[in-house]
Amino acid sequence: MRLILVLVGSIFVGELLIMLIFAALPPISPWLESFIDAGLISLFSTPILYFFVFRPMTRNIAELRQTKDQLRVTATAFETNEAIMITDADANIIRVNRAFERITGYSENEVIGQTPRILKSGRHDEDFYSGLWQALLSTGAWTGELWDRHKKGHLYPKKATITAVKNTSGKTIQYVAIFNDISESKLAEEQLVLSAKVFESSRESFIITDANERILKVNRAFTALTGYSPAEVIGQTPRILSSGRHDADFFKRMWHSVRTFGYWQGEIWDRRKSGEAFPQWGSIAVVRDAAGQPSNYIGVFSDITERKAAEERIEFLAYHDVLTGLPNRRLALDHLELALAYADRSGTKAVVLFLDLDNFKSINDSFGHAVGDALLNTVAKRLRECTRDTDTICRQGGDEFLIVLSNVADADAITSIAVKILESVEKPIHVEGNELSTSLSIGISVYPDDSRDIDTLLNLADTAMYSAKESGRNVYRFYTEQMNADAHDHQHIRVGLRRALEQGEFVLHYQPQVDLSSGAVIGAEALIRWNHPEQGLLPPGRFIAVAEDSGLIVQMGDWVLREACRQAVEWREAGLPELVVAVNVSAMQFKRGDLEQSVLSALKESGLAPKFLELELTESLLIQDTEKVLEAVRRLKAFGLQLSIDDFGTGYSSLSYLKRFNVDTLKIDRSFVCDMAADPNDAVLVRTIIQMARSLSLKTIAEGIEDELQLSFLRLQYCDVGQGYYFARPMPADEFARYLAHAGRASV
Ligand code: C2E
Ligand code: MG
Ligand code: MG
Repeated sequence: MRLILVLVGSIFVGELLIMLIFAALPPISPWLESFIDAGLISLFSTPILYFFVFRPMTRNIAELRQTKDQLRVTATAFETNEAIMITDADANIIRVNRAFERITGYSENEVIGQTPRILKSGRHDEDFYSGLWQALLSTGAWTGELWDRHKKGHLYPKKATITAVKNTSGKTIQYVAIFNDISESKLAEEQLVLSAKVFESSRESFIITDANERILKVNRAFTALTGYSPAEVIGQTPRILSSGRHDADFFKRMWHSVRTFGYWQGEIWDRRKSGEAFPQWGSIAVVRDAAGQPSNYIGVFSDITERKAAEERIEFLAYHDVLTGLPNRRLALDHLELALAYADRSGTKAVVLFLDLDNFKSINDSFGHAVGDALLNTVAKRLRECTRDTDTICRQGGDEFLIVLSNVADADAITSIAVKILESVEKPIHVEGNELSTSLSIGISVYPDDSRDIDTLLNLADTAMYSAKESGRNVYRFYTEQMNADAHDHQHIRVGLRRALEQGEFVLHYQPQVDLSSGAVIGAEALIRWNHPEQGLLPPGRFIAVAEDSGLIVQMGDWVLREACRQAVEWREAGLPELVVAVNVSAMQFKRGDLEQSVLSALKESGLAPKFLELELTESLLIQDTEKVLEAVRRLKAFGLQLSIDDFGTGYSSLSYLKRFNVDTLKIDRSFVCDMAADPNDAVLVRTIIQMARSLSLKTIAEGIEDELQLSFLRLQYCDVGQGYYFARPMPADEFARYLAHAGRASV
């Protein structure tokens, strides 16, 4: 019992002593008090622990005082910028500081009694935490980075050190976690990584130099662009890339800009390791140190070879025709201006030639655009061959070309170039297995003779070109005053044609076709005339081309067909001898109209048997739209109509080619018949045509017989039929009826 009393007594004495010691100490922080309360004083009530833990601690007062001092230091240090969180051995939070509250968003009250799991971000898996705990348990400390979740929900990275606080017997009594929000440094670090990535993966080449322009660093794009590896350039200056294309002045200006404005931007030609010079677009910026002195230069460059090429291409396209590569109108006009100035200085002439292909549209329509393009290219090439380097050839668009000749002495020089061009272009052109023939109509105006003004010169050449087209194509025409008058006239005609159709101002005249062996009138060619209210009776030469241009030729052709058929039936019914009425058909009627339908309805309306109708087709029509025309012609032929080829010999078709169309008759062009007597070549030609036609079972009609000599020559060659002023001029229907009545009785 004594022993027990002594024991209890000593406990109380011990406890009393401790209490006295604490009372004697200067005031300590509430935290420390509670720490002591929780950690120490409560232990007093546990005798067993007292013996094992507290007793040894209290045994040495000096030791205790030391501990207390340390705690005091700790307390002062507690309110730092770093968050401090203290948990008990079971990881229940028992204390946090203000920095903790700031970083986590939780107040102390909210977290006391909670575990640090309240801060968990969900970013780390269980393995991470078990690793952390293992380290803590085994080494007593863990340091690392981890993500926490702020009270408001967002995540933040922190760098933390967790230490296990042990008592003297080595048992963990607390854990102290000290951590920092490292969002900012993390961001900076990420940006650094990003910058490095940008630097390396940029498609632009980077060069970083020191203040002395010695290269410190280059990226992958630099190597790709220049061919130099980093090792080859580091320590060198960018002059290693010098292309030699810029003078000293260029670099002087460049560095002046860098030094004055801290920046330079522009185009620079460098040289690759391979020796090839290439254009770059880039900038150089200066980096200054704290003292404001340049510490580095950063150059960023990109290869603009492609862009440069595209620019050159755009520049080229602005002044050239894409298809042929010839200068375009803009450039040609610039050249024309120069040519005029030169003509003034040298007293020579400058010439404008307007060229237009005669049958381009139909080639394009029938063979397709690819063939059309190839044809244009060939024509462009031939035009280049016919002219001098100082002349300018331009494609104005479509099938129109413009040529500017400078330093021309006289009209003879112009004529010889024009003839050369015509001859060159009319040679057959082979495209994709097709033999094409084309020709040009050329209009010419001359500076300073025709005008001193560019626009006027161009207009005059244009007018002359139209005149060339009208006078049979494949010719050149110099501008004359008369053409101007004609041009006005055309305008007038264009306006009048529609009215003429509506008001019935057209009439047909008929010219007899005579069988040369029997002298009998076997046919009549219907030839249109315009009974113009002011200008009187106009021949077709005055308005057919205009009608074709405006498309009115289709309606006009329909009318001719109907009228000719009607007239033929009327003559038959009047008891006149049977004859075939021949109607001229324009190529346009094939293309724009429905010729078959028109023919059928004209026959049906009139009641004329198809064999009494002959269609006169032109050679050029048959050459142009081959397949389409071939089909249409065959169908027409199947109706039982007669087909003839008008003006034969003026085109470029071969007889055997035309035979494919199953035509019945060839009409030998008037020009050959007319010159037969004077030009032996024409006589041979006519004879050959007749013989060849016969061998192909084709009938021949000679047009334009004007005298007895021609007639007898043709009879001698066994030409089948004749037509011309020698027999009769084209005449109105009633006159023709009288003629026919008379001729029927007495053969011509
Ligand atoms: P074409 O079809 O070759 O007609 C023959 C032309 O030669 C006619 O001229 C005729 O008057 C003329 N002629 C006939 N014999 C002689 C002669 O001995 N000497 C001379 N110097 N000339 C003679 P026209 O009537 O002026 O017709 C000219 C062209 O107009 C025709 O040439 C034809 O291509 C076209 N044409 C006439 N009528 C029509 C028509 O209804 N439709 C179409 N599309 N064209 C037509
Ligand atoms: Mg005719
Ligand atoms: Mg003819």
